[in-house]
Amino acid sequence: QPTELNAKLNYLKHFEKKETLLPHTWMVVRIDGKAFHNFSEKHYFKKPNDLRSIELMNKAAFSVMKEFPDIIFSYGQSDEYSFVIHRYSKMCDRQGGRIISSIVSLFAGVYVYHWQSMFEDVKLHYCPAFDARVVLYPNNSCLRDYISWRQADCHINNMYNTCFWTLVQQGQCSRQNAEEILCGTFSKDKRSILINRFNQNYDDEDAIFRKGTVMYQKMVSEESGRSRGELPENNQAEEGCRGIVVGHFDVIKDEFWRERPWLLG
Ligand code: ATP
Ligand code: ATP
Ligand code: MG
Ligand code: MG
Ligand code: MG
Repeated sequence: QPTELNAKLNYLKHFEKKETLLPHTWMVVRIDGKAFHNFSEKHYFKKPNDLRSIELMNKAAFSVMKEFPDIIFSYGQSDEYSFVIHRYSKMCDRQGGRIISSIVSLFAGVYVYHWQSMFEDVKLHYCPAFDARVVLYPNNSCLRDYISWRQADCHINNMYNTCFWTLVQQGQCSRQNAEEILCGTFSKDKRSILINRFNQNYDDEDAIFRKGTVMYQKMVSEESGRSRGELPENNQAEEGCRGIVVGHFDVIKDEFWRERPWLLG
């Protein structure tokens, strides 16, 4: 009887609409923490940048890249991460919903799994949630622009937050006062405030905060050949296992892409 019922009810599967994403286009999944402004305050994040959360985000992204080798590149900052899936990928038969949910659920799971080892004395009061979306980019130029956009966003926010929290923490300004001081200022004004009032050079801030975090798949032959010291651009680059490189590169400039032609090739 259950077998008959199952056969009879099988028609229900035709209600599942399997929309597939356009072939041969880059697929970018961006996840973003839900209400992390509150989450960060409830969990005593250091302001402007709590390294523990950034490292958790990076651990989660690294696990996602290991699990899904079709993700050739990822970029993270603050409570967000973008994953670039190769344009010829057949991941999850290119079904958007399945791609998004596989990535975001693993990401959230790893973030929570490693919480205690990273935050030690801070108890996780409730589970963080992340939203996710997938966007298609039809050519390399749009994809590069997308990545530049996220890194520029990181730069703008980090510069603002660095000034804001320096005024509050070291300048004894109230939050409202700091906000008023920064209102309408440009990048060079913020640099001046840091130098003139706090003798602090913005460029001395850690690259992980200024640039965010980049992960990408090594070229196959690069995996065995290159040694640590020969990695290009900066000494913070680390070689991970399974051919994933982690670093805090400038991905707006052409140089990064020129030196790694296999990524968008
Ligand atoms: P939404 O649900 O709309 O995304 P949100 O509160 O998460 O709301 P975002 O624009 O995503 O808003 O901003 C994330 C906020 O989380 C930042 O403004 C900052 O306050 C906080 N945050 C995220 N990561 C860190 C970190 N590593 N250190 C300190 N604060 C952080
Ligand atoms: P896919 O990623 O394609 O879903 P899957 O291995 O999850 O692969 P499913 O068809 O979803 O395949 O089947 C889930 C399997 O998980 C079951 O066949 C069973 O082996 C196992 N499983 C799930 N829940 C339980 C449970 N509560 N107790 C024992 N085994 C379970
Ligand atoms: Mg958001
Ligand atoms: Mg958020
Ligand atoms: Mg965000």
